[in-house]
Amino acid sequence: MINGLASYAAKPEESLGRVFAEPQEPTLSGRNPFQRDRDRIVHSAAFRRLEYKTQVFLNHEGDHFRTRLTHSLEVAQIGRAIARRLHLNEDLVEGIALAHDLGHTPFGHAGQDALNACLKDGFEHNLQSLWVVDELEERYPTFNGLNLSFETREGILKHLSKKHLTQHRKWLGQLGDRFIEGHQPSLEAQLANIADEVAYSNHDIDDGIRSGLLDMEHLSSVKLWQTHLNHVHDLYPELTGRRLRHEVIRHIIHQLVDDLVNYSKNLLQQHHPTSIHEVRLLPPLIQFSPSIQAEVTELKRFLFKNLYRHPQVVAKTEEASTQIHFLFGFYTTHPNEIPEHFYQTDVSNQPRRIAHYIAGMTDRFARREYIRFSAITPNQSS
Ligand code: MG
Repeated sequence: MINGLASYAAKPEESLGRVFAEPQEPTLSGRNPFQRDRDRIVHSAAFRRLEYKTQVFLNHEGDHFRTRLTHSLEVAQIGRAIARRLHLNEDLVEGIALAHDLGHTPFGHAGQDALNACLKDGFEHNLQSLWVVDELEERYPTFNGLNLSFETREGILKHLSKKHLTQHRKWLGQLGDRFIEGHQPSLEAQLANIADEVAYSNHDIDDGIRSGLLDMEHLSSVKLWQTHLNHVHDLYPELTGRRLRHEVIRHIIHQLVDDLVNYSKNLLQQHHPTSIHEVRLLPPLIQFSPSIQAEVTELKRFLFKNLYRHPQVVAKTEEASTQIHFLFGFYTTHPNEIPEHFYQTDVSNQPRRIAHYIAGMTDRFARREYIRFSAITPNQSS
């Protein structure tokens, strides 16, 4: 083990590098490439906009609901805690976690579905996150985007449909090869992906109960919840309300993290990768045990059916969808309403440029633009 990193961890000095060559890394403030990536993400405009983007509940519905920003911070916290125990690269996990949702549209999944329907070539938030860090951020004198390391970009891209792979083969380069060859990304990328799942499955229970759309009785059909509720009742028989909810959720997160660490350790021992290169050729090694995986799946199904498809959430998302459709149509007929300086690199593909512009919007900016423009062109709002 070198610098606390296992042989299978991503090593900054072995990074596959950046698209645009930059001065030797160690000379710049003593930060390694993955630390610099993380810092670039935190300083980006897209990262700041996460504060006003919906996770599940629309941003203005309450001050305590998660936003994309607080969700991303929770993913980073959970991801780093697991990385430390597995001797993986914490900085890389943190960078991927903080950037993983940069491509999300305003209004959560409703926004993504609406943009996907508007674009002939389709819209996909993982690819959009990569677009943000590769192209859309304007911070450097000589290149677009943040020029992140290969390993960070690989973690951000996560999944890719065949359609998008074919369309963007040239841009994706080596990043696309993995999908053709069926290889895995780094363990850090695998971990960030599961940390996302742990974070949202738990904070959506919390936000769901807080909003009144879920109740604890309702959740008793979910094994993961009921097991820990019983346990917390035994420990603190008097506990009720929000402290009870928080304690149960804390216990669930603990168990999920412990299970993930222990089961992944077993898989790592079994397959014994000695480098990140070997990791790529093996099956996914960051995994829950099969029994816990089944319980997580049950919880996710419950949330899908009872929270994400709750009539009140659906009504809000339909409203959001109308607004996104309107804005796309409006900018198509009024392209001059997009700020002139906005992403001039590919002006020939106007629909994509419009999608980039809308995807970057916060909930409140999208709503404001919708109100402003639908007042002057009311016939387009239907
Ligand atoms: Mg996420």
